[in-house]
Amino acid sequence: MSERKLPRFIMCFCTGECPGFANLDLWKLINFVRNELDVEYAIIHPQLCVTDGDNFFRDYLKETDKDKIYIIGGCDPRMQRKMLKDVFAEKGLDFDKQVISLDLRNMETAEAMKKVEEAISKVVGA
Ligand code: SF4
Repeated sequence: MSERKLPRFIMCFCTGECPGFANLDLWKLINFVRNELDVEYAIIHPQLCVTDGDNFFRDYLKETDKDKIYIIGGCDPRMQRKMLKDVFAEKGLDFDKQVISLDLRNMETAEAMKKVEEAISKVVGA
């Protein structure tokens, strides 16, 4: 698969203080995703749903990226949609078509790795 079609993985770690991520080894997860799975790259953000998260997305998202798929690990998909869709719309991107939100809270690391792997496999058709 060409680089252009590989999804981008963004892990939102909810400040690092969220009890929902207490059993998740962040570095093990992110290194697994970036080294073992079919992604263009994997990055971590500390808190996407506050002002600096919006600032990050405004800087990061490009209007020309309408064919990109973003897999965002974090909280409940409905929460992610509510809090993140507007900044995607500002850039002319379609949150509902371009974002796959994964709730990775309250999981052991291996479970989260499996969930991300399955989501990426669906996108790349593996
Ligand atoms: S988007 Fe969700 S996971 Fe990320 S900081 Fe906000 S509540 Fe936490």
